[in-house]
Amino acid sequence: MSSTGAPRLGHALAWFPAEEWTLAVQTWPDLTEEMPTEHADYVAEVEARTKRLHRTMSRPLLFMVSIDVAGLQSFCADSELGLDAGSGAARAHYAASLARTGTTAASWPPGRNDLCWCRSGRKYKRCCGPVPEAVATPAPTPLAPDTMVDPPDESEGQPQ
Ligand SMILES: [Zn+2]
Repeated sequence: MSSTGAPRLGHALAWFPAEEWTLAVQTWPDLTEEMPTEHADYVAEVEARTKRLHRTMSRPLLFMVSIDVAGLQSFCADSELGLDAGSGAARAHYAASLARTGTTAASWPPGRNDLCWCRSGRKYKRCCGPVPEAVATPAPTPLAPDTMVDPPDESEGQPQ
């Protein structure tokens, strides 16, 4: 994949790394009503939802953006949108904001032999890649509203 001159827009999808997920669940216990508590299961659910979203989009360009609780709270406090930091909308807006800088965004899907977006250290094909679209959870909710962002530079993140 090489960069092109034409601007493309993408969706930024927020996810919490393991230590931040633990903190997020403590901060917003309601999260476990829509997502698995165990981080490995949570990551699998994020992957499954991303696969389903990818299928519904005609020209998908998705970015996985790792977020942190303190940054999310700070973002919402500074935002004029009146965002509830525990809401999916807040996570989506924060992820889109981070994706514009490209610092924590990884394009999805990774190459089969590239490191997985979830930072397990394993190749995508041996980690989240095989996760089926349908992971059984009771209440699927959209990962992100229509938050469109410019794709970040790929200077950071997955090695080619
Ligand atoms: Zn993974």
